[in-house]
Amino acid sequence: MREFLIAGNWKMNGSSTGSAELVAGVLAGMPAGSGFSVLVCPPFPYLSAIAGQVKGSALKLGAQNVSEHESGAYTGEVAPAMLRDIGCEYVIVGHSERRAMYGESSFQVAAKFQAAQAAGLVPILCVGETLDERESGATESVVDYQLGAVIDAAGIGAFSSAVVAYEPVWAIGTGKTATPEQAQDVHKHIRALLSGHDVDVAAGLRILYGGSMKGENAAGLLAMPDIDGGLIGGASLQAMDFLAIANAAART
Ligand code: PEP
Repeated sequence: MREFLIAGNWKMNGSSTGSAELVAGVLAGMPAGSGFSVLVCPPFPYLSAIAGQVKGSALKLGAQNVSEHESGAYTGEVAPAMLRDIGCEYVIVGHSERRAMYGESSFQVAAKFQAAQAAGLVPILCVGETLDERESGATESVVDYQLGAVIDAAGIGAFSSAVVAYEPVWAIGTGKTATPEQAQDVHKHIRALLSGHDVDVAAGLRILYGGSMKGENAAGLLAMPDIDGGLIGGASLQAMDFLAIANAAART
């Protein structure tokens, strides 16, 4: 049985005071119960302080990016072992903003995925198509290519300790959410693709939806059979908005 994962990607937002308040607000309103986990992915400078804040609670901690290298002369980079060392359990890899703005290729994303796992982190691998790609009917081939690079590098077994996030680029930060049916079609396709390699790994894999998810649309998306949670940007920056999604997961 797959558990929901509700993950907040704060991106490059916040301050030390603001992030402490946001985490305090999330901790205060965390829904009780089982069958779901809640995760926050703050910017690097706040991770250590927040690790202390969430210690002993059910709220999990992750980072938004990681180096594919173990250590050494990589100025400005953060190693996977450093994230593990300060208490991160998860890390986002291959977010579309990093692919588009920082030129991360699917091969580099695959290397980050492997490096994260080697250090004991659970990678959240983001895949998704642009509007042009969707309109030209290329959605499936785009996600196949992005996933294929990781399957080729890491092997299908690596997906038993990973999460995939389907994030249509046209829905990120735009207010345009994929309909539950549009998202479900792609999630089903992703699971079928992985099933072609290993049925059990595919059945156990959590596939999150990301793209303007909020309290008002979360229940409809989470009701879909292949949607196992959400990766949430804008709506993760206010405790009440984020908790509305966590509550939808707790109720589903
Ligand atoms: C994201 O950046 O991962 C995301 C889904 O953003 P938003 O929820 O703001 O669309």
